[in-house]
Amino acid sequence: MRLLIHDVLLIHPEKDFQEKKDILIEDGIIREIDEYIRVSDAEEINGEGKIIVPSLIDTHVHFREPGYEWKENMLTGSMAGAAGGFTGVLCMPNTDPSIDNSAMVNYVRRRAEEINIIKIYPMGAITKGREGKELTELGDMYRAGAKAFSDDGNCVMNSELLRCALEYSKMFDVPIVEHCEDVNLSSEGSINWGKTATILGLKGIPWVAESSIVIRDIFLSQLTGGKIHIAHVSTWQSIEMIKWGKKNNIKVTCEVTPHHLTLTEDYIIKTNYDPDTKVNPPLRTKEDVDSLWKALDEDIIDVIASDHAPHHRDDKEKEYNLAEFGISGIETVIPLIITYGYYERKIPLLKLFKKLSYNPAKIFNIPYTPLAKGLKANLTMIDLNLEKKVNPDEFFSLGKNTPFKGWSLKGWPVLTIVDGKIVYKEGRIVNV
Ligand SMILES: [Zn+2]
Repeated sequence: MRLLIHDVLLIHPEKDFQEKKDILIEDGIIREIDEYIRVSDAEEINGEGKIIVPSLIDTHVHFREPGYEWKENMLTGSMAGAAGGFTGVLCMPNTDPSIDNSAMVNYVRRRAEEINIIKIYPMGAITKGREGKELTELGDMYRAGAKAFSDDGNCVMNSELLRCALEYSKMFDVPIVEHCEDVNLSSEGSINWGKTATILGLKGIPWVAESSIVIRDIFLSQLTGGKIHIAHVSTWQSIEMIKWGKKNNIKVTCEVTPHHLTLTEDYIIKTNYDPDTKVNPPLRTKEDVDSLWKALDEDIIDVIASDHAPHHRDDKEKEYNLAEFGISGIETVIPLIITYGYYERKIPLLKLFKKLSYNPAKIFNIPYTPLAKGLKANLTMIDLNLEKKVNPDEFFSLGKNTPFKGWSLKGWPVLTIVDGKIVYKEGRIVNV
């Protein structure tokens, strides 16, 4: 394989730097980056309007294996990840059985190696069976390759247990990833608490269910010195708490999803209660969405992650309050972020992609391969001008549950190379 891409914008998030250059990739290695490269017998690509970004990592995906393979499995999840432009993902442990011991961590790693499309890094559960009662063997799982710990889907409601987890996690210097939801406040809610819930007659989930746990966890991080990573932050109040934590040098980081950045609760009415708008935390208000973008721009938000939660049609095509939470999101992250972050809000590409590559790598201690001569290619090419309608029938994911179906988005991945191997090119999974 000899691939020569001319005049392409190379993004170097680790150096806060971008440049327009030619790049030559040969046998999976970046051979040359220069003003003008000329070689014979290479496949040549005009890079005009395209960008290349290294090591895109989605820090929050549910690949559903083992236990729910009809919703997604590691093979279909890997293909969806490659098509979404990601070279690596962090997999949540809410499987059945859950990833709560070193044997299960090894199982995920082994499956990822067998499939060998993208890198899959496991997260281990904080408590056994994610039941919130008894701590897991964090050390065993860390040594087996767990990159972080989370009971995601569930909040660790017992503050003392979370304190212990933060205390232990310091030994391995890994983050505790929290799904912030006071279940006493949110129970049976399916939508944001407020105007829309009242109109639709559905039980609401108040912002305080999230934000009260966010500040509790920040305080516990301050107390213990352990690292806390807040998953899918969704309210302006949570942002204020995280801002405060960072200002006071507490080890708090956070992530936001593309759907919380682009949809409000009003969209639920607009789509006539489409269950594909049902997510946890719920879609909030315009005020929240604006504060999330502002926090992203001000680097209060460290990471953009999909919270890819594929479900089978049978779990979604139900009355709103009975449908499962979550969207199949990994294949629409990049075009959503480019359409609404870069084009609409004018946020620089470098800033956006730092939150999808270098920051995740740093926070979760994941191998990161920059775009540099002599290194194995681990990169994604994105066509900023490519406009396409979101068609869930074309998803590689088994989950077709997306609230963005039919949306016209600009800026799609066209090439994904993982460790020197082309895994996705122009709509196809290759070399598998
Ligand atoms: Zn969650």
